[in-house]
Amino acid sequence: MGMLRIHCDYCGQAWEVYHRDEWNGDSARTCPHCFSEIDPATWEKVVAAFAEMSDANIELAKDHAQTHGALFWVDYLEDYTFQDRQAETLTDIQNSLEDLRQLIQAPEAPMFVYDRAE
Ligand SMILES: [Zn+2]
Repeated sequence: MGMLRIHCDYCGQAWEVYHRDEWNGDSARTCPHCFSEIDPATWEKVVAAFAEMSDANIELAKDHAQTHGALFWVDYLEDYTFQDRQAETLTDIQNSLEDLRQLIQAPEAPMFVYDRAE
């Protein structure tokens, strides 16, 4: 049986919820490190998605048992990490600030340089 690993941006920690755990209780959707909570309605969507993925893996195992073909199973790994997006945003802001700083320090500098070599 599978499990979910839930990442909390608030404290930077993660926790795991196993198939055997009490999914409808508040503890499963609460970060055990900082006690931040996932919205109950959103948590229901997480549970439904987990159940669908778990069912799909059971079907893959059945296919394997019936056909004696390869056994497949699927893990879902999220590529969204707030830290990466924040770093991207910070880099964008730093670049914009650098452009602005250069403009302020040399306001007389032309924005465009025309080629007068004709
Ligand atoms: Zn947390």
